[in-house]
Amino acid sequence: MLFPYQFIENHSIYALQQWMDDLFLNVWCTADAAVDYNIDLLPDDLKEITLAIFYDARITTDYLYGPIERVYIIFQGFDQPTKDLLAQAYKNNNNVLDLCKQQNGCNPYVYSTLQALSEPLKNELISFYKSLFTSVIHLKAVQDKIGTIDSHYDEFVTTNDERKCPFCGLNSIKGPNRTVRDAYDHYLPKDIYPFNSINFKNLAPMCHECNSSHKLRQDPITSPNTNARRRAFFPYDTDNGYEINIDLTFSNPDINTLSENDVTVNLTSPTHQQEVDTWKEVFGIEERYKEKCASKTDGKYWFMQIHDEYNNLPFISKVFYSKGKHIQNVIKSARTNPFAAGNFIKASFLESCAKMGII
Ligand SMILES: [Zn+2]
Repeated sequence: MLFPYQFIENHSIYALQQWMDDLFLNVWCTADAAVDYNIDLLPDDLKEITLAIFYDARITTDYLYGPIERVYIIFQGFDQPTKDLLAQAYKNNNNVLDLCKQQNGCNPYVYSTLQALSEPLKNELISFYKSLFTSVIHLKAVQDKIGTIDSHYDEFVTTNDERKCPFCGLNSIKGPNRTVRDAYDHYLPKDIYPFNSINFKNLAPMCHECNSSHKLRQDPITSPNTNARRRAFFPYDTDNGYEINIDLTFSNPDINTLSENDVTVNLTSPTHQQEVDTWKEVFGIEERYKEKCASKTDGKYWFMQIHDEYNNLPFISKVFYSKGKHIQNVIKSARTNPFAAGNFIKASFLESCAKMGII
């Protein structure tokens, strides 16, 4: 991830997650075998929307009322250590920061583990948590209380106003004045991890290509090859001091005929190498940056443009201003605004051309 997002504090939509915290930790995990389920056990706001949805004839799916009661009954059958284990699993899965950074002994809990513990519980929770994000959050009774995800998006992109997807740096992120918006990605996929489908620390707007062509359901914190835990960038990391170096080499010195296969992309970081390795794998970064370099309207254009700009200078200027100096100035200018017009790759591209003596 090229740069972190700034988290929007204090949006009313976060109430849904707070109700879910209350439900899981203070209702389900404390379910007493001797106390029959009663809707009065729920926190007031959750009780109100549960009843509003249940009695709304236009809503034909029982999103909350029945599932909440059935999960309570399953928890009534658990002993205290099992309830404690699930309470800790809930807290861990909602601690996206520590999971991404692999710190403070925070380990994730997955549906497959839950299935081994209780298949009925796993089946209830996978549809419950998915429906919170795909349906419940969009219901009018809920929006009347907590606002809309669109209003969160508008505030989000007003604060995060780079208008570039930080996961690739290539594509735009739609602004607040558009009639459509970019989708929120579940950074820790909702098919793998229970409990955090409406936790906005686990939701990050992403460009369509990153979301729908590359990341998909990939798990950034577990390697698909070894099943081992790995570190990943946390989208809302406040420690934004990391550096990523993009080093490009070309096996073909003729930029006009450069193809993707001629380009090697080496991504390094002095402090966040494991996060960079995860990022490039999950988002297909290498192939995308190779394509950018070999493209007629990017790499080949940058190469041609720098020659044209220099050649069009008045003869007298060129006496005191070498092409090498011009290239260094263009690179310097690109580095000052790295996320405009693909400048972060342009700078690396021109540096590599200069180093290879082909410009
Ligand atoms: Zn992107």
